[in-house]
Formats: sequence, C-alpha cells, structure tokens
Amino acid sequence: MTNDQQPTTGNQQPITIGVLALQGDFAEHKAMLAALKIRSIEIRSTKDLEGCDALIIPGGESTVMMKLLKETGLDQSIIDRVRSGMSIFGTCAGAIVLSDSHLKLMDISVERNAYGSQLQSFSDQIDIKNIGSIEATFIRAPIITHVGQNVSILATHNDHPVLVQQGNIVASTFHPEVRSEMAIHQLFVGCLHY
Ligand code: GLN
Repeated sequence: MTNDQQPTTGNQQPITIGVLALQGDFAEHKAMLAALKIRSIEIRSTKDLEGCDALIIPGGESTVMMKLLKETGLDQSIIDRVRSGMSIFGTCAGAIVLSDSHLKLMDISVERNAYGSQLQSFSDQIDIKNIGSIEATFIRAPIITHVGQNVSILATHNDHPVLVQQGNIVASTFHPEVRSEMAIHQLFVGCLHY
C-alpha cells in the first residue's frame, strides 16, 4: 500500500487504528501498521478509545488483559463501539478476549493454551482464503473449538480454525504481528467499516 492509497474515514481523514496497550505485544502491531503507513494510537483508557476508528487487541495474557479491561471500564466501551460498527481484530489472547469466554463479541468458543506444554510455540504454513500461503506463528495459542453460523473460517491448521471473521470482527489464534507478514493486517484494513 502506498501513501496515496491510505484508507480514509467518511470525512476523508486518514484512518486511525487503536492498539490496546494495557499489556502484551502492542508495539509489534504498531510497527506493522506503521509499515502499512496507517496511523495508530495506543489505547489505555476509554478516552483514548474515542480517538480511533478501529481497534486491535494484541497477544499477551488474556486473564491479565481482562482484569485491566474491567478496571479501566474499557470492556464495556469496546463492546459498545463494536456493536455500533467499529471494526476490531484480536490476535491470540485478543481472540480469547473477543470470544464467548469474555466480551462475547464474536460467536466463537476457545480452549486456552490448547497445544499443551510440549508444543507451546511453533510456526507452520497456513493457507488463507483469497490470499494464499503464509507462515503463521503460534505462541501458547488457543484452539477455536466452536464457531457460530455467522462466522467465516478464513484459514485452518490441522482442521482447527485459526483465522475467522464475523462481519467487522476478525480473530486469529496466531501472531501475524511477529513476522514481517503484512497480509493479515491488510486483510483487516480491507474489511474496515467506516
Ligand atoms: N496463552 C495466552 C492466554 O491464554 C495467550 C498467548 C498469546 O497471546 N500469545 O491468554
């Protein structure tokens, strides 16, 4: 994507993507967005959330992230924004936060740390619908054990969904931000509703 193809809001302002920065690998997501020439801001409060057009919830530790989301009131503000159309992308712990275990924004069920202690981290090729093959990195990843009827499965690994989309909500159980693989961030930007 080049400068003159930057996505803009309805008012022709360049789009701003918020990256939840309470905990986890938010810096890597910011770097990916910078490489795509997309403005990003770190989100730590409900006030910060007002300044972004879309949100990424990074990988990290979902229990800690949920505790901080509740303490800051961001849990309810995020639910409200997404219900009124804001796009959101959760990676790994972020996918767990979006699932029916926590914010219930996406109709998916997950099992945390499902690859077990021996295989906590690995990389493998996955095939993404309309994009092709990429190397995906899984770090103490969850497994998506159920997807609702409204959820599209965009990629699987060993028959488990690893990249899913439900309208303006995207979730991956792997970490597209840890490699210089921009396809997944581009996919998210491509499905923004604004
Ligand atoms: N295992 C973490 C959790 O349960 C997720 C790991 C990650 O985001 N890399 O929240």
